[in-house]
Amino acid sequence: MGATGYAKDVIIIGGGPAGYAAAIYAVRAGRSTLLIEGLQPGGQLTTTTDVENYPGFAIPITGPELMTAMRDQAKRVGTEYINDVVESVDLSQRPFKVRVGMGELEARTLIIATGATAKYLGLESEQTFIGRGVSACATCDGFFYRGRRVAVIGGGDTAAEEALYLTNHAKEVLLVHRRGELRASQIMAGRVQKNNKITPKWHRELDEVLGDETGVTGVRLRDPRTNETEVLDLDGVFVAIGHRPNTDFLGGQLALNDAGYLITAPDSTRTSVDGVFAAGDVQDSVFRQAVTAAGTGAMAGIEASRFLEEQP
Ligand code: FAD
Ligand code: NAP
Repeated sequence: MGATGYAKDVIIIGGGPAGYAAAIYAVRAGRSTLLIEGLQPGGQLTTTTDVENYPGFAIPITGPELMTAMRDQAKRVGTEYINDVVESVDLSQRPFKVRVGMGELEARTLIIATGATAKYLGLESEQTFIGRGVSACATCDGFFYRGRRVAVIGGGDTAAEEALYLTNHAKEVLLVHRRGELRASQIMAGRVQKNNKITPKWHRELDEVLGDETGVTGVRLRDPRTNETEVLDLDGVFVAIGHRPNTDFLGGQLALNDAGYLITAPDSTRTSVDGVFAAGDVQDSVFRQAVTAAGTGAMAGIEASRFLEEQP
């Protein structure tokens, strides 16, 4: 595929809840819409089992089923798909240029919906038990640990938030941090301190996740100062050392906040470049849920269409 010779009204980068919702709104506003899905069509939810907090499903739907339904809906209304990865974009003038493996595309407006990736520690045992006791999302998986003992790894606001959330379900939450004080904001650290279900494990790193065919059964922690280790029995490990928004392909052409998320205008999905919109986890360090991603996706679809209306 070379340059197509004509620009799509809307190109959406990312096939998660934000991208599919944006597509549904853009197409139904009469815009020619192309969605580039990247390496993970369906997005992060394709890596999970039951999704119990997406409204509309009294009987839980699995992540892959939900995402197939969203994709089919966007297709049915008229979204075109490309299964490719965006390598770079040129936002210096309109139409914008979007470089994919197959060639170059042109877009009158762009919606960035590339999500964020939870950071993991990179231990082999951690990877082995992802989805079987190791998680990076307490809001998603905390419910499965009712009355259990779990550990949260990390010392920032995400870790504090995950630990506090897990106290709604688990009987004990160990907060495992590699240093002797939290990085989390004072208010979050204060809440952690006051919560008697949370037991801090200071100066400890996760050395190994222990488990068997049933899933996680414990962890081995290591004191980085002495290298001494200890083994603890527990049922779940929540890795909360931060997320990395997927923005590398933008090459610094859009404004990011200090944590690397795309900055959008208040009450809007507008980014720092006119005609470029951002939706979902790539611009949201706070909520990071499918329903909020779909919500901002819908906003981006509407805003892209309105932007086109205003153009000569
Ligand atoms: P994503 O779903 O991350 O989708 C990003 C898309 O961008 C993907 O299609 C990817 O292929 C594409 N992409 C990335 N880079 C490129 C590129 N360079 N070129 C082209 N395409 C690209 N939320 C809930 O509400 N409920 C839950 O129960 C729940 N469970 C979860 C369980 C797990 C294990 C995880 C990891 C997350 C869970 N979440 C849950 C969070 C939820 O999945 C995210 O908030 C949501 O998927 C974000 O949607 P998004 O559209 O912004 O991005
Ligand atoms: P963060 O502030 O970067 O904290 C990451 C934590 O993980 C740090 O405590 C860090 O330890 C630890 N860590 C990182 N790599 C590690 C490793 N390899 N092994 C062990 N520990 C490791 O990330 P975050 O908590 O996701 O927060 C990101 C941003 O979002 C922040 O600005 C935060 O304020 C914001 N946020 C806000 C809220 C809220 O206000 N409710 C909620 C979530 C996030 P060290 O401390 O030793 O570096």
